[in-house]
Amino acid sequence: MRVLFLSLLTLMVFVGVRPSYADDHSGDTKPTYAIEEIKPGILRTQQGPYHGIVIVGETGLLIFDTFSEEFSKWLDAELKSKFPDKPVKYVVYSHNHPDHVSGGQVFAHHNPLYISHELAKESMERMKVPTHYPTVTFDDSLQIDLDGKTIEFNYWGQNDGWGSISMYVAEQKFIAAIDWALTDRVPYMEIRRYNVDGIIRSLYEIDNMDWDLISPGHASTGTKAQVRNFRSYVETIRDGVITGINSGHEEEKVIQDILTDLKTKPNFTSLKMFDKWSEQNVRGIYRQIAEVEGILE
Ligand SMILES: [Zn+2]
Repeated sequence: MRVLFLSLLTLMVFVGVRPSYADDHSGDTKPTYAIEEIKPGILRTQQGPYHGIVIVGETGLLIFDTFSEEFSKWLDAELKSKFPDKPVKYVVYSHNHPDHVSGGQVFAHHNPLYISHELAKESMERMKVPTHYPTVTFDDSLQIDLDGKTIEFNYWGQNDGWGSISMYVAEQKFIAAIDWALTDRVPYMEIRRYNVDGIIRSLYEIDNMDWDLISPGHASTGTKAQVRNFRSYVETIRDGVITGINSGHEEEKVIQDILTDLKTKPNFTSLKMFDKWSEQNVRGIYRQIAEVEGILE
């Protein structure tokens, strides 16, 4: 039943064309703009390997991440043709990084509320990100009402960049988390920028919420079981690094022992990009923990 429902939804995929470009943290560089319904009234947007969300209310729309001016112009036109009577009421930025939140000014003619975590806003202004800066910020959590549908934004502490939040729609058991949640692939290379403990903590926090579908920023939509598996992958590496360091082993031995262990686990080896990036994942997490814990000279 569910399979049939989803396959009908995939008929609603609309794809545009854009020039190809290189992304900095994904194995997927499909040069496409797209918007696809993943739950009733919840659309997933795509700019190449980047994903965001549009939520459709009775009288207006919410946009979660805008990526670029070019994409935003495309999205604005798409939304106008699909929902001619529904203005954009909210533009929400998932975190501070320009590759996710540029172009928000395109929607200014709708006069929406622009929302982000306060740390994301500070960073966007400081770094002069080419977008419309947030007009409403929050520290811990924020709930908004979109025509009777409650949409909740939460900050779980630092995990990636500044002010990186989740968006939760309880009524539809749906959550979106960008950059720090993955489903079907391993993290990008050395996981620079990421706060490993922060990612794990944030993933435990969203695990406590009631949802059955997640939309990450750079991987397929997925289930809670997939996110738990991803979390377990990161935890296994982190715990292996700590155990190895505490055992007095050399860095290279610690890394090779962890890789050997990971390769015995089909739930990890089956993740996309495992063969390419798992060694870099382990090396990167080792370096981060060693630096944070003051182990390196
Ligand atoms: Zn990203």
